[in-house]
Parts: sequence; C-alpha cells; structure tokens
Amino acid sequence: MPTVIPSPAQPSIPVVGRTERFPVRRVFCIGRNYADHAKEMGATVDTSNPMFFTKPADAIVTDGADVPYPSVTNDLHHEVEMVVALGGGGSDLTPEQASRIVWGYGVGLDLTRRDLQAEAKKKGSPWDVAKAFDHSAPVSALVPATDFVPDAATRIELRINDEIRQSATLSDMLLDVPAILSALSKLFELKAGDIVYTGTPAGVAALHRGDRFVATLGDTVTLEGRVS
Ligand code: MN
Repeated sequence: MPTVIPSPAQPSIPVVGRTERFPVRRVFCIGRNYADHAKEMGATVDTSNPMFFTKPADAIVTDGADVPYPSVTNDLHHEVEMVVALGGGGSDLTPEQASRIVWGYGVGLDLTRRDLQAEAKKKGSPWDVAKAFDHSAPVSALVPATDFVPDAATRIELRINDEIRQSATLSDMLLDVPAILSALSKLFELKAGDIVYTGTPAGVAALHRGDRFVATLGDTVTLEGRVS
C-alpha cells in the first residue's frame, strides 16, 4: 500500500525457541488485581467491575533493550506482571471461551510515573501520562501456551540489583486469566495480537538510572534489562 509518510514499524515480541515473532496489536492492563497491592495503594477493590487501562503497542521494550528513564517524573515505579498474548479474539466471551484465545505467556513491567498518577487520581484526570508513556512496557520473550501454562502455584518475582522487590504466586490474583479476558471482552472486541498485563502484587517501589531488573514467571519465563 502506498503511504504518504513511511509506515510505522510493527511492534513485535520475540518467541522462545522460534525465529518468528509475535506482532502486537494493542496493550491492555488491569489495575488492582492483587489485594495486597490494592491495599498498599490505598485503593478499594471491586472484582465485579475491574479497572482497565491501555498503553500504545509501541511502548513495549523487547530483546533486552535498555529502558530510558522517562521525562517529567521523579518517581518511576516498577510493577511486575504476567503478560498474556492472544492468538484469537471475540466479544462478550465466557471465561471458558476466553481461556481458549491465549497464545502464550510472558512477564513484563507496567512502568508507572507514580507522581503523575497520584496527581491524576487527585484531579480525576486520565492515567495516560502516568501509564502510557514511551518505553513503559518492557516484556520478556513469550512462551507458547503449548509449552507452558502457569497455574495458581506459579511464582512471579522481580529482583532489582539482585534484591527481591516483589514476589507472589498467581493464586494471589483476584481475577484469573479467563476472568480478566472475559471482563475485557465485554468492553472491547479482543483480537489476535492483543496482549494483556494482568496486574501486580505488592512491593511496588522506585527505579533509578542504572538499576538492573530481572523478572521471572515460574522457571521458564525471564525478563532482564536495565534503566538507562
Ligand atoms: Mn499494573
């Protein structure tokens, strides 16, 4: 297709053991999906009405690239999250139908300008500047669901400079993956290529220039990188 400006590059995520990559269409995130994190944020939880927000697809950071410290914040926070990549889609899915559209799993950071988020909460403003900034979504290579399906006992963990900052099992999630996708599919028609950040456990804290992060989901999925 002839275009009047150069077409933007298609954001994509590497896949463990494959040369083909996973093309990213949209990035959805759920908030307040672990009770102990909601508590540390002073937020109330309503699992019948989950809170979603989005990031642009080109906010992903892959292949171990450095994460540049963002502008206009003095309080960049890490939120380690399981990431679900969709190979199918649909609207108004039951949890059972939703469980069948998962293509693979990864682990990522929902990076947050916490100071701008606090301001937005106070003013009732949108969260975009706090959540959807450039390079705000580092994500690991994906493992296909044919090779690995996390369960309630799977541990999600984040180390910063070799110190454990966040650690939980997926049993601590308030909504599991089928329930998240079912709820999301009532708000948006999900499509192949969409990825979903599934919420963070307690322990969110500040990142600084030079920090090295290692996020893991079970024994199979790892994200390593550095804030520059
Ligand atoms: Mn989050």
